[in-house]
Amino acid sequence: MSAVEGMVFNIQRYSIDDGPGVRTTVFLKGCPLSCIWCSNPESLDPLPEVTWRYTSCRRCGTCVAACPEGAITLTDDGILIDRNGCSRCGSCVAACLPGALALSGRKMTVEEVWSVVKRDRDYYEVSGGGVTCSGGEVLGQPEFVAALFRRCRAEGIHTCADTSGWGSPEAMETVLRESDLVYFDLKHLDPAEHRKLCGRSNGPILRNLELTVARGVPLVVRLPLVPGCNDTDENLAATGALVARLAAGAEVHLLPYHHYGESKYRMLGKEYPLPEVESPAPEALERAKTIIESYGLKCDIKK
Ligand code: SF4
Ligand code: SF4
Repeated sequence: MSAVEGMVFNIQRYSIDDGPGVRTTVFLKGCPLSCIWCSNPESLDPLPEVTWRYTSCRRCGTCVAACPEGAITLTDDGILIDRNGCSRCGSCVAACLPGALALSGRKMTVEEVWSVVKRDRDYYEVSGGGVTCSGGEVLGQPEFVAALFRRCRAEGIHTCADTSGWGSPEAMETVLRESDLVYFDLKHLDPAEHRKLCGRSNGPILRNLELTVARGVPLVVRLPLVPGCNDTDENLAATGALVARLAAGAEVHLLPYHHYGESKYRMLGKEYPLPEVESPAPEALERAKTIIESYGLKCDIKK
């Protein structure tokens, strides 16, 4: 039995967007990037975080009394959590009977995750599905991902790593060794723009993309399409040209920006960064697809 542990914030069964077939997606906590369009803000911090559900809160104040750090204040509109003062002890979560509070993220062993994953092996078999590790960033927990994938492969279950590509080459190698497929995000090809939008340069990402191609692991390149951020013809053309040059057989998926993550920002006491940005129009998506396809690549628009 493996004692390797990972910090997991969600295990989503019956997923159909994170690789072929029906899958179980294991979401890992912690990401080195901070993309302004991120729809999983609970994935950024590598440690557990308290979330607060506005609609479930009865404004009873029980959590205020339960907090040993004095980090919670009752307001007319619910509660305020001082994130700097919070020690992530979870006392407030245990005290909140309506279930408005939760701790997002907990350490799990490979065997604990496997015990969930294995329940749906019949679905994987029938649909050609399997297991995906996503994030957060899988390269932040490479040993855990590799150990989980090894466990899956030993039982004939397909494995997919969904990565931003930002991590060390050693981490990438570790994950690649146990991956049957890689979903690889390319957010912006200009290093300065990438730093502005995602908090870091894209240098390590491009190096790890080359490494993925060199190791021969099947690859799908994914481009989140965010109006006004990375949807210029220039960036789309640069992306198409790079993928065609490095990995001509790779598929490209366009991921239209959406507001699905907005409520999660409120649950974490954070401001939603792009409230004014709309999802790309169908014509803009088709135009982006045409540009990518002009490089001889297969391109799909995802939901
Ligand atoms: S204990 Fe729960 S319901 Fe009561 S104020 Fe705190 S978060 Fe709201
Ligand atoms: S997790 Fe602990 S320290 Fe943080 S707000 Fe809740 S009770 Fe206070």
